[in-house]
This record gives sequence, structure tokens and C-alpha cells, in this order.
Amino acid sequence: MGYIAVMIFCGLIGIVIGKRKGMGMVKSFIGGALLGPLCFLMIFLSKEAVDCPKCAEKIKPKAKKCIHCGYELAAATK
Ligand SMILES: [Zn+2]
Repeated sequence: MGYIAVMIFCGLIGIVIGKRKGMGMVKSFIGGALLGPLCFLMIFLSKEAVDCPKCAEKIKPKAKKCIHCGYELAAATK
């Protein structure tokens, strides 16, 4: 199996994982293809990202405050 085939394979897995994490398809594919296993690790580490109810940016589920818009999340349970 050539390296390009491996890259495409990694890219496809990247799409599957990225889709679940709410990442863009193209971004996930490129990330997966270029970084391979390293990218998966990064995606897994950033798993369970939630959308900020105010600005819709991805934030950590344990965050009390949105890092993007400063929205207070302490009251809002998700
Ligand atoms: Zn926000």
C-alpha cells in the first residue's frame, strides 16, 4: 500500500471523526491525511466540544465561560 493510499485512508477516518466533532469535512480530511494518527489524537483530545449557545463556537464542555464571546455558561447545563 502506497503512502498516498494511507493518506487518503487517514483522511477518510478524519472525516468520520471530524463529522462527529462538528468539524468541517474538507478540514477533517486534510487534517487526517496530513497528520494521520497525530490528528486523530488531537481530535480525540478535543472531543465532546460543545457549541456556545450564544456565538455557536466550539468550547470545552467543562468551561464556565465561553472563550470566544465571554458568555457565562455556569447556569446553562448541557
Ligand atoms: Zn460564545
